[in-house]
Amino acid sequence: MTYIGVIIMPNLIKTRGIVLKHTYLGEADKIITLFTDSLGKVQAVAHGARKAKSKLMSSTQAFAYCEFVLYKGKSLYTVSQTEIKASFQVLLNDLHTLTYSSYLMELVDVLILEGEENIELFSLLLKTLYLMTEGNLDKELIVRAFELKAISQSGYMPQFDNCILCGSSLNLIKFSSRLGGVLCSKCSENDRFAVKIDLPSVNTMKFFIKNHIEKVRVLKINLSIKNYMKKIMKNYIKYHLDKDFKSLDFLDEITNMDELEGVE
Ligand SMILES: [Zn+2]
Repeated sequence: MTYIGVIIMPNLIKTRGIVLKHTYLGEADKIITLFTDSLGKVQAVAHGARKAKSKLMSSTQAFAYCEFVLYKGKSLYTVSQTEIKASFQVLLNDLHTLTYSSYLMELVDVLILEGEENIELFSLLLKTLYLMTEGNLDKELIVRAFELKAISQSGYMPQFDNCILCGSSLNLIKFSSRLGGVLCSKCSENDRFAVKIDLPSVNTMKFFIKNHIEKVRVLKINLSIKNYMKKIMKNYIKYHLDKDFKSLDFLDEITNMDELEGVE
């Protein structure tokens, strides 16, 4: 069911939203960036939200999924009331899960412009946050599936079915970020920055684009495919969004540290 933002009174709007990030304003206030189902991405001032006793404190933290009543001012929204549906603060208990989840927020923030609506992406983000709370799931795989689906839903769907240049479905050996899809062996020299890909990785990425994200619960993916996907998505997202993600850099750092210490 699609939930439409309800106008309660002139200038008061009820909407469901996820807090993507917050910044401090003055001594006690916050400006939060919300991804909502009915207004898209908006910024809102939360007065007094940094005060320990404020009712807004927990509902304006990153990841919080709430029903918000927003007051529409001349240039900004103000948070009037909140009701927490899921705080997702459990994501903070594990450093890898927290960093992967922070990356989801960063990516959505970049993918969607202020005031732009994308209910499909909103719903995907919410489902993905719930998946991130499930302790036994492979977080890296959830993130790869999310990346593929989120960029596809935002107008950057990569092409994995056929060679992007000649249309052949055979010998797909490289992926070109610039051209936006796979290249066959005959066309692979057309982009010298194209990276190697193998058939199992092509099929896995196609599978994620076409299926619900919950399928990560049943899929077992080997390390080689995960590494192909990681490299391809990193290049593709950097090429099209022209952004370096702090959370991804941090993830590489902590993963390298784990490897040095022999921790999985
Ligand atoms: Zn070709």
